[in-house]
Amino acid sequence: MTSSTLINPATEEVLRSVEQLDVDAVDDAVARAKVAQKRWAKAAPAERAAGLRAFAAVVDAHVDELAALEVANSGHPIGNAEWEAGHVRDVLQFYSASPERMAGKQIPVAGGLDVTFHEPLGVVGVITPWNFPMTIASWGFAPALAAGNAVVIKPAEWTPLTTIRLGELAVEAGLDPDLFQVLPGRGSVVGERFVTHPDVRKVVFTGSTEVGTRVMAGAAAQVKRVTLELGGKSANIVFDDCDLEKAAATAPYGVFDNAGQDCCARSRILVQRNVFDRFMELLEPAVAGVAVGDPTDRGTEMGPLVSKPHWESVRAYVPDDAPVAFRGSAPQGPGYWFAPTVLTPQRTDRTVTEEIFGPVVAVLPFDDEADAIDLANDSPYGLSGSIWTDNLSRAMRVSRAVEAGNLSVNSHSSVRYNTPFGGFKQSGLGRELGPDAPLHFTETKNVFYAVSEES
Ligand code: NAD
Repeated sequence: MTSSTLINPATEEVLRSVEQLDVDAVDDAVARAKVAQKRWAKAAPAERAAGLRAFAAVVDAHVDELAALEVANSGHPIGNAEWEAGHVRDVLQFYSASPERMAGKQIPVAGGLDVTFHEPLGVVGVITPWNFPMTIASWGFAPALAAGNAVVIKPAEWTPLTTIRLGELAVEAGLDPDLFQVLPGRGSVVGERFVTHPDVRKVVFTGSTEVGTRVMAGAAAQVKRVTLELGGKSANIVFDDCDLEKAAATAPYGVFDNAGQDCCARSRILVQRNVFDRFMELLEPAVAGVAVGDPTDRGTEMGPLVSKPHWESVRAYVPDDAPVAFRGSAPQGPGYWFAPTVLTPQRTDRTVTEEIFGPVVAVLPFDDEADAIDLANDSPYGLSGSIWTDNLSRAMRVSRAVEAGNLSVNSHSSVRYNTPFGGFKQSGLGRELGPDAPLHFTETKNVFYAVSEES
């Protein structure tokens, strides 16, 4: 067994090291999860509901601790990290209502009674990325547990601490330790084993499109179920008839939240040509106003990038001759800091087509509604996006025409635990969250009970 050293991205100080599990440890965990799942599925629905409510209550009592861990491990600003921990509690609370509502159908047929059941899959493997470690974990484990499954979860190598703690809190809440197991390790070892292990019946993968493609191909060998939440290059479309001041004031927060390390980041701002210059005049002070700094400070809106290798990857998109319109600020000294950066590149530039996953945004002019839609859809991705207009008919037309799973009109909101979330095209497959998520962790079984004639 090896271990990995975790670094605080705001200070570059060593936090601690975490053991990386091997294939034998995964196999052992899956074998125990298989047994625990049978017990869990047999428990009364009300008992499973109570278990999830208890888990939510323990998370609620540890919001501050979880938030502090995320600040140290991931560099998230404290206010964001507290929201994230509270969101995990809310997701658990929301899905604690599901076990008692997983009703099937009674279908009228001749000669007997026909009913459907939503049977749990068994053991579900969840693989998470480093950008929102605990929230994304909860989107997988909460509905999977609610539907009667056991969960093994592999956090990203750089950011395992909050997920490890959630595993401990589940046990504290009274859940069977084998029902929800956190297995830190490398993607190529633990993650791959989830894909190849025959007793892992579904893999929920959130991460890059490159690795997600591999997970899907591997899962095909066993016709294994997958949910994929992958990359994005979302458009923020600003029409000339919108509240331009508001669109410009909020645009930085639509892309620089979590230092741009957000699959929903609106990293392409498309602005109608006749208001382009005015929009840029308004955007400059808004970008300068983003408070970048110490994530433990309550006034901070943007922290550092997650790691040195990731900082280098983002840096490579902004060479010395990059078309930089303006930049915000960032601290000097230790930490993986990157100032919010606004580019005005050509449409074909790689900063327009590739996911940078950092605080870099491309602003492009468009001519009319048709041009805006074409430009927004000119991407292999289709996760999120925003549309700014005060024309209701235009809002309706454009929101139906943009090929993306999560759009907001005159705002930048994308994620609510009670509404479905996921991507079109290469941004993913399947949906998380919303009322139907537990059903995606079940198989529909149809049973016909013959009723004999009275003798
Ligand atoms: P990544 O694909 O490098 O890693 C994601 C996870 O997969 C990690 O836990 C990693 O260890 C694991 N992994 C790596 N190789 C594997 C393999 N061969 N088999 C199985 N698992 C393997 O992604 P990342 O760099 O951690 O995260 C950033 C990416 O995640 C971005 O592209 C971002 O858009 C995407 N993302 C998408 C969503 C969404 O909901 N659509 C949300 C957050 C992040």
